[in-house]
Amino acid sequence: MKKLLSGNEAIARGSYEAGVRFATAYHGTPSTEILEELAKYDQVCAEWSINEKVALEKGIGAGLGGARSLVAMKHVGLNVASDPFMILAYTGVCAGIVIVSADDPYMHSSQSEQDNRNYAKFAKAPMLEPADSQEAKDFTKLAFDLSEKFDTPVMLRTTTRISHSKSVVELGERHEVIHPPFDKDVAKYVMIPVFARKRRLIMENRMQQIAGLVETIGCNRVEYNNRRLGIICSGIVYLYVKEVVPQASILKLGVTYPLPQNKIKEFCASVDKVYVIEELDPFLEEQIRAMGCSVIGKEAIPSVGELNPDIIADALGIRRKAADVSDKSHLPARPPSFCPGCAYRGVFYFLKKLKVRVMGDIGCYTLGALPPLEAIDAVFCMGASIGCALGFEKAVSDPDVKAVAVIGDSTFFHSGITALIDVIYNKGVGTVIVLDNHTTAMTGFQDHPGTGKTLKREGSQAVDLVKLGEAVGFKRVITFDPYDMDTVYKVLKEEIKREEPSLIISKRSCLLLDKKRKYQKRKIDAAKCNGCGVCLGLGCPALGETDNKKVKIEPVMCNGCPVCEYVCRQGAIESA
Ligand code: SF4
Ligand code: SF4
Repeated sequence: MKKLLSGNEAIARGSYEAGVRFATAYHGTPSTEILEELAKYDQVCAEWSINEKVALEKGIGAGLGGARSLVAMKHVGLNVASDPFMILAYTGVCAGIVIVSADDPYMHSSQSEQDNRNYAKFAKAPMLEPADSQEAKDFTKLAFDLSEKFDTPVMLRTTTRISHSKSVVELGERHEVIHPPFDKDVAKYVMIPVFARKRRLIMENRMQQIAGLVETIGCNRVEYNNRRLGIICSGIVYLYVKEVVPQASILKLGVTYPLPQNKIKEFCASVDKVYVIEELDPFLEEQIRAMGCSVIGKEAIPSVGELNPDIIADALGIRRKAADVSDKSHLPARPPSFCPGCAYRGVFYFLKKLKVRVMGDIGCYTLGALPPLEAIDAVFCMGASIGCALGFEKAVSDPDVKAVAVIGDSTFFHSGITALIDVIYNKGVGTVIVLDNHTTAMTGFQDHPGTGKTLKREGSQAVDLVKLGEAVGFKRVITFDPYDMDTVYKVLKEEIKREEPSLIISKRSCLLLDKKRKYQKRKIDAAKCNGCGVCLGLGCPALGETDNKKVKIEPVMCNGCPVCEYVCRQGAIESA
């Protein structure tokens, strides 16, 4: 049977067919749908993990217990999981373990566009890169076989275009793979120096064996055509190359670490000119040059952002037919902003008014940095807000310069908790605001330890943020409804001033989830509106200017919140 699947759906299907019994992830675009798909299979125990490190540790444990395990994450997630990843390459696996790293060139939905192929080389773990959904499924199965054959974790690296594009996939049957739990073997599984030194040699030896295999493996294939131009590529770039220069000879790499040295040298010797075309870093290029091959790479191909057929055609000096060139100039720009009625809006409005330094975090609320709210001053990585605010507080001696940390509930569970403990341990006096909208809205409303629901929608014990704050030592834990504007302002003002630590929980469900929500749309009384524009400073997409410089509310877009009515001092905004 054939089915149209995205790359993520195909990886889920490949895992299912490969007999995976345990799968876990921390959701992150572009990888999220892998686990959501796997959760549909009864044979797979599929779970969201609190973060990627815990996910991989659970995957390791499941592998030791005899279950083939898939652990999925976006590229920055592997930074979080890199500690167990590096060690897993030493110990090897019991049942197969495959780690999906979904990279995001051009940062469609990410804070960085790091090239995670470097991690495979860094950890000395083999890596496969599919070019379409069929390969995503097939390579997932192959990755599990390689993992068990060579006793190694295997990395499956995709990019946004592979993860989210759909193509036809031939479905197969599930093959149950049952391994017994691991035998006690401290020299293999206990990485203290005396054992790790021996494993280090085993790891090198293993990579040499895999390097031999990749010379003949089917997914590293040469497509000879016109020998004047040869192109070495992998992943989505292969499809772009086929579109732009179908006449070229191509070495398409499915295993991109380790590389098939002999095959590459032979290919380079058999064509007149070789381009290495790859997104982001010169990962293939540098290794191929080190083999002594003369190739054209990043001097012609951009190393920043995504590639596409137009960029490749330009780099190769190929003129394309106008009909083949993608023209996006007619598409309207859609600047990101909080949804109309979003409960974050009022909190950021007041933080800006209070003139505090705001250390933000990763989630929808990062939009609080953008105009017109412009309340957030710094955003680094998942869970960084609390530590950054604490460090800032330690460095700044002026008591009037205050910093607050603002973090969403899912991100707080991911990696904010440890810094929260640090605030108490190191006698911090700052304010931490958890914006609890009861979901992970940015990645598509996934549950987390605070929602009381698992990935498979079973009930679970919800972690109580108030009790958690009190348990780690916060004497002041305050919860408010962010729609209660008077209280929000009063609490923020008082707590920020205080010379003791406060944990504020701004609690209101994301309005897109709250189907039973009753709301009262607002309208403008044009006679009272003086066009001051204060309400426009909220950045609500439902608010706009009229031709006569007053304000209008688009009734279809208004989700009815108290924020604009609160800020209008002319009383020009009222219930519709
Ligand atoms: S804040 Fe009130 S008076 Fe000012 S532009 Fe908006 S609706 Fe008009
Ligand atoms: S127009 Fe006003 S009431 Fe409606 S969603 Fe926007 S801020 Fe809320």
